[in-house]
Amino acid sequence: MTDHYAVIGNPIAHSKSPQIHAQFAQQTGQRMDYQRLLAPLDGFADTVRRFINSGGRGANVTVPFKLEAYALAEQRSERAQAAGAVNTLLFEAGRITGDNTDGVGLVRDISLNAGVMIKGKRVLLIGAGGAAQGVILPLLEQHPQSLTISNRTLSKADDLVRQFAHPALHTCAIDALSETYDIVITATSAGLSGDLPPLPGAIFNSASFAYDMLYAAQPTRFMQFAQRHGAVTRDGLGMLVEQAAESFYVWRGVRPDTAPVYKNLRAQV
Ligand code: NDP
Repeated sequence: MTDHYAVIGNPIAHSKSPQIHAQFAQQTGQRMDYQRLLAPLDGFADTVRRFINSGGRGANVTVPFKLEAYALAEQRSERAQAAGAVNTLLFEAGRITGDNTDGVGLVRDISLNAGVMIKGKRVLLIGAGGAAQGVILPLLEQHPQSLTISNRTLSKADDLVRQFAHPALHTCAIDALSETYDIVITATSAGLSGDLPPLPGAIFNSASFAYDMLYAAQPTRFMQFAQRHGAVTRDGLGMLVEQAAESFYVWRGVRPDTAPVYKNLRAQV
């Protein structure tokens, strides 16, 4: 029996998840297939239910449905609750369970793949949207010395700090940033349109590590800016592969080797 999985989004044609999961399945000998499902903007829940009725065992959820997936889930993991969003659905025993693997994907990519320890570090997170919210708990679990959230709309960062109520968590307006950080993570969609938030170069020094959740063939504008100010940089392709690996583990109970999959994907980006 082949088990069925899918990634659901709108648009969805660009998604690399089928490629990633096909390689994981082949590597680990799991009998499964994984397809792209385009859900109408007003038809996410119907698409999920049709997929369940046709034998679907689980699904990844991408833009713009992560909040709807959260609402649809009858049971949610702690990390999904902290993220307020769901990117992984599990259909088991007639019940829909929601999880969120984006944050753990980021933390694994930084700590294991890039070899940068988060513990004891001063971390700056730029952005306060869904992606930022999803990584706060996993970052805090690594025990940074501090985690500062900066966002174009500062009140959204303040809301997140109130929600998580953790002593290491602070906010700072983008135009008030003046200190240097060990790790700077950007989780804004500014880069999608080639924009760059007006960050001061002084947030970096030659020991800083700068991470852009976006990925591209060339260094992103944020990465180029960080490099000009001495930082070592990395894009979000590894996060994409690591969040997929965590979803695969949730569904199949097996951890794939992400390194060869990352290497193949990088060659294609
Ligand atoms: P949201 O729409 O939820 O949030 C967007 C964020 O970007 C907000 O903080 C917004 O600020 C900020 N922003 C948008 N435009 C600008 C701008 N011109 N200047 C400054 N800030 C801006 O998006 P998500 O949080 O879901 O996604 C953010 C990014 O993370 C996307 O690019 C996405 O592709 C990436 N991502 C990557 C993943 C991976 O696996 N590599 C996984 C998940 C996300 P404001 O609040 O002021 O509007």
